[in-house]
Amino acid sequence: MDILKGPVFRPGDEGYDDERAGFQALARHRPDVIVGATDAADVRAAVVMAAANGLPVAVQATGHGMPMAADGGLLISTRRMTGVRVDAETATARIEAGVRWARVIEEAARHGLAPLSGSAPSVGAVSYTLGGGLGLMARRYGYAVDQVRAVEVVTADGVLREVTAATEPDLFWALLGGRGNFGVVTALEIGLVPVTSLYGGGLFFDLATDVVKRWAEWTLDLPEEMTSSIAVIPFPDARWTSPASGPWSTATPSIRSASCPGSRRAATPARCARCTRASARHCRRGTPEAAASTSCTARTPRPTRSGWPTTRTTTGGWPR
Ligand SMILES: Cc1cc2nc3c(=O)[nH]c(=O)nc-3n(C[C@H](O)[C@H](O)[C@H](O)COP(=O)(O)OP(=O)(O)OC[C@H]3O[C@@H](n4cnc5c(N)ncnc54)[C@H](O)[C@@H]3O)c2cc1C
Repeated sequence: MDILKGPVFRPGDEGYDDERAGFQALARHRPDVIVGATDAADVRAAVVMAAANGLPVAVQATGHGMPMAADGGLLISTRRMTGVRVDAETATARIEAGVRWARVIEEAARHGLAPLSGSAPSVGAVSYTLGGGLGLMARRYGYAVDQVRAVEVVTADGVLREVTAATEPDLFWALLGGRGNFGVVTALEIGLVPVTSLYGGGLFFDLATDVVKRWAEWTLDLPEEMTSSIAVIPFPDARWTSPASGPWSTATPSIRSASCPGSRRAATPARCARCTRASARHCRRGTPEAAASTSCTARTPRPTRSGWPTTRTTTGGWPR
């Protein structure tokens, strides 16, 4: 452990909970030890140590994935590895394992370039890309993974490798799409595209019956410059306020009820402050309990947004 430059956390240590926390709140790693890697050498040291002690290894950058929780074992946290180096001449960028898209976009834009990022700038660029990466310009430029030129990775034998299609074609092929299954990636070299502006954002609709059909019809003859996707999201009726977890957060300090507009309650309230009904189930819309609630008539949550790109909304869209 002495050779590590980054911090090490064990359950009960100050900082342990912060280090394992991420965007997704449904699953939480509970490792025996967390290594806060600062560079590739730290990652390598952590993998070697895990192997020597028979510990399974998990990786977390921003926690936007929905991983199987690593209970026991060693978690490598890459959030300190945030280096980005853009080479404008070759239109490429070297991005470290913990960097978020927002940073890559900012650095690339200085050179009139852009990465093939996705819908949320707070997502980790490396894991997104390793999983394929279907982004905002996917129809025009393809998957993010197709732009990978080289992968720096620590494999299970503790060796730090620079992998390209020429040097290790099988491992290169496996890594691109295999995400965390073939080693801990410490950096990627990716291609950038010559895009300086993008018009886009999210439109939110009540799930009225013909929204999906209309969207499908609309996409039939769109030019390739337009990439569009649809998601059905059961928003809780909550304010998204935690800056620590990126634009959206599952931290919900209060719940606002549409049928009781003045109420603001703790996330697990015993009583609605406005109408004073005692049931903790009252007004919890968007949950199984909501279906059982007779007093809460508005079934569609109105999320408060933050962090999305500015967008113009059309009929039915509500966040402005
Ligand atoms: C709000 C939101 C918007 C999204 N938008 C898009 C989108 O537009 N397009 C799209 O394609 N996907 C999208 N995704 C999915 C996202 O790309 C994946 O969940 C991605 O894995 C998140 O990576 P992360 O580093 O942020 O998350 P993490 O939870 O930190 O990592 C997820 C998993 O990736 C693996 N991993 C992480 N770092 C490494 C590493 N250095 N080496 C090896 N394996 C590693 C681990 O198995 C880890 O469990 C979105 C997800 C969210 C939550």
